Formats: sequence, structure tokens, C-alpha cells
Amino acid sequence: MKRERILIPKPRSSFILVQCKNCGNEQIIFSATTHNINCKVCGNLLAERTGGVAEIYGIKLKRLD
Ligand SMILES: [Zn+2]
Repeated sequence: MKRERILIPKPRSSFILVQCKNCGNEQIIFSATTHNINCKVCGNLLAERTGGVAEIYGIKLKRLD
């Protein structure tokens, strides 16, 4: 698998499976997201951008790396 040239500021970034505390929906989010991430089902805030690793508000189920 070829690595794409994407600028990632921190090497510890990863994809995380997060469950919404509000409705139980499971969603994969990027830990170094540059956007706030809302639940696709209910709109609850799951992760907030911080400039580095995002603040996760949902339930972290597992890392996908
Ligand atoms: Zn939800």
C-alpha cells in the first residue's frame, strides 16, 4: 500500500471507533481531525478540533491502526 503525501502534524494520529453517548451510533473518526465531528445520526458532538489530537467526547471503542 502506497503512502499518500498528506501532511500530518503529529505521528500519533490514528483512526478511532467512537460511540455516540447520546444515541449509541458507532462512527470512525480521525484523531487529528481539523474539523469538529458530529454524530451522523443525532448531531451530538463526538470530537472537537484542538490543533493537535482532537478532544473526543464520545466513547472510544478501539483504535484502528
Ligand atoms: Zn448520536
